[in-house]
Amino acid sequence: MQVPLSFEFFPPKTPEGAVKLRGVRQQLYAMRPEFCSVTYGAGGSTHEGTFGAVREILAEGVDAACHFSCIGATRDTVRAQLAELKAMGVKRLVALRGDLPSGYGIGGEFLYASDLVRFIREEMDRDFHLEVACYPEVHPQARSPEADLQAFAAKVNAGADSAITQYFFSPEAYFRFVDDARKAGLDLPIVPGIMPITSSMQLMRFSDACGAEIPRWIRLRLTSFGDDTASIRAFGLDVVTALCERLVAGGARALHFYTMNQAAATLGVLQQLGWQAR
Ligand code: FAD
Repeated sequence: MQVPLSFEFFPPKTPEGAVKLRGVRQQLYAMRPEFCSVTYGAGGSTHEGTFGAVREILAEGVDAACHFSCIGATRDTVRAQLAELKAMGVKRLVALRGDLPSGYGIGGEFLYASDLVRFIREEMDRDFHLEVACYPEVHPQARSPEADLQAFAAKVNAGADSAITQYFFSPEAYFRFVDDARKAGLDLPIVPGIMPITSSMQLMRFSDACGAEIPRWIRLRLTSFGDDTASIRAFGLDVVTALCERLVAGGARALHFYTMNQAAATLGVLQQLGWQAR
């Protein structure tokens, strides 16, 4: 069964990157995504690039979700940016705490994403559909899985409409997390975040940083391919396609792809799933 899709991009750093991303988006639009989202550098470091890409997506006739991180921000700056997003016609936000690069003091008036969700609801009522992040394999800074589930519940109770997970390769982790959330009375959509595999080094670096687990057998297979990019991609395509099949068969009602600003890997998975442009 084909389910609704969303695609995530990061803001391009150069004019050439922006041109390339426009082409990538057009290729992915063929799959009629429910929305496309653009990440936001914590501390506002990508403000211009993020808002620019969001503007372009809206102008291309596609619903855009702007990621919005609050760490280091003040109520005044958040208020001003929310007004700017509303004026741009943005209707959907991914409300996050974010991670400041090391060396930055924490500062700011928001400690957690739940503070941001609460603030947005207080200030803007229901002007935005609010997505939040969640972690089937537990956020790396969480005191315990239970504490992390409570942190997720705090975001939902503060007014989140739906959630997107950190990527993972063990469907059991997702199903268990959704079960635990339902038992805790959280009935919002919990959409799996899917990371296509295109490069071993990049995947391992990201996974170490964000706490996503690469199962040993996948790590070993990837390592064994060395620099053989074609084999890494073919193996990655099989692994991620099988993951998507399991997730949808097990009840996932939508999928969110971390595209890494590339069309081929995501489209490869969708093609292998046999999903058509809608
Ligand atoms: P929170 O929900 O605030 O949680 C952060 C940590 O604090 C967790 O360990 C949680 O258990 C703990 N916690 C929460 N509330 C409490 C409390 N009351 N008491 C004690 N502990 C608490 N990062 C970016 O910089 N830009 C992006 O665009 C971006 N997009 C993302 C999109 C998705 C779908 C995902 C899954 C992650 C994204 N990230 C992004 C990464 C994210 O910013 C980091 O994972 C960050 O460390 C946590 O953000 P959060 O919103 O989940 O934080």
